[in-house]
Amino acid sequence: MPDAPDPIVGPAGRPRVTVLTGAGISTDSGIPDFRGPAGVWTRDPEAEKLVTIQHYLADPEIRRRSWLARRENPAWGARPNSGHRALVELERAGLLRALVTQNIDRLHQAAGSDPDRVLELHGNLVETRCTGCGARGLTADALARVDAGDPDPACEACGAVLKTATVYFGEALDPDVLDAAVAAAATCDVFLAVGTSLGVHPAAGLVDVAASVGAEVVIVNAEPTPYDRLADRVVREPIATSLPALVAELVARAR
Ligand code: NAD
Repeated sequence: MPDAPDPIVGPAGRPRVTVLTGAGISTDSGIPDFRGPAGVWTRDPEAEKLVTIQHYLADPEIRRRSWLARRENPAWGARPNSGHRALVELERAGLLRALVTQNIDRLHQAAGSDPDRVLELHGNLVETRCTGCGARGLTADALARVDAGDPDPACEACGAVLKTATVYFGEALDPDVLDAAVAAAATCDVFLAVGTSLGVHPAAGLVDVAASVGAEVVIVNAEPTPYDRLADRVVREPIATSLPALVAELVARAR
């Protein structure tokens, strides 16, 4: 269970930065987003069913397709890009309050972000969780069973439906992770939303929380978001170049 990460409070004048990332930070790593122009759901609206809990629990065919889609997920071979690395620099400079991510790809940790400071709002792809007994396992093990001829591997402990440890539509977020994220949004000086269409709640609501406490809100996203009018600054340039520049600016401001 993640605790709310300790705020890094540096010498006076150092901004505490809370970051919210979405799928857009990983597109340069070869993982398509969902709602961008080349997004998975933009191209195939039916794909949303594979990650909707009601459909998943009710229909073995959906589960079969879902495991195959998990196996093909480009996240397995992906490597972090300059956007992920810029956030490692932010942490090393002592400015990162928390890194809240909607991504399930583990690329922040792969880049070198402290796992204790990464709050995975929507879980991760690497682990499985049983929908009956809650047992945790590895997705690689479940996929090995799929490859061995079991298209819908059940929990080996209790026989219930198995799924990846990602939050599906219709499921609640882990309350401890959400509480820690809200606390981080409520106690920052700068709130950076990066590569997210801010269309999924409660993640998007973190912008409201940060704005309500007077944090400077910066949105880095190629397309407009419903929160742009709340932002102090909106950056439309590609994340791979604009985020390192923004981090350099924050680090320089703290000196
Ligand atoms: P989204 O697909 O709704 O929005 C991504 C946004 O990023 C888009 O508005 C797009 O214009 C922008 N974007 C994409 N590449 C960019 C770039 N290089 N520079 C600037 N902007 C760029 O993503 P979301 O808001 O994170 O919501 C999608 C949901 O799906 C999340 O809940 C997440 O859990 C999941 N998801 C995760 C991954 C992943 O782990 N990498 C990938 C796809 C979806």
